Amino acid sequence: MKIIKKITEFIKNNRSARFILKGSCKKCGICCKNITFMIGEQYLTDKKEFERIKQLDSKYNNFFISGRDENNILLFTCKALKEDNTCSCYSFRSLYCRLYPGIKTKHIRAGAEMLKGCGYYIESNVKFEEFLK
Ligand code: SF4
Ligand code: SF4
Repeated sequence: MKIIKKITEFIKNNRSARFILKGSCKKCGICCKNITFMIGEQYLTDKKEFERIKQLDSKYNNFFISGRDENNILLFTCKALKEDNTCSCYSFRSLYCRLYPGIKTKHIRAGAEMLKGCGYYIESNVKFEEFLK
């Protein structure tokens, strides 16, 4: 039975739609103003906790709290973002910034979306009708 389960999972995974990133960057800076941090498995929601982690890791000093999202998760803006929405340390930006917006299937399946106003969007490479064949 175990082998059947494994084969079923293999087929499911290989028949599943893959997600493709489309569009392009509008250089709006929205992503640099809507940063969230995870501490362990949890998003950062507590301002005092942010003050505490800044003491432990100085890289957090590069951000300031700019609001909260609809789930009460703290949103941060990067201090390197200039008024014209360009990056003042573009050549030295982190790998995270360089890879953004990378898409992960498990995150999309969990409901993750592109930020509102972002020039990128996500599409499935398999149309629903094709998937049914
Ligand atoms: S939010 Fe999207 S379009 Fe705007 S700067 Fe970031 S990646 Fe580019
Ligand atoms: S380092 Fe530059 S690209 Fe990265 S979040 Fe800050 S402003 Fe945006």
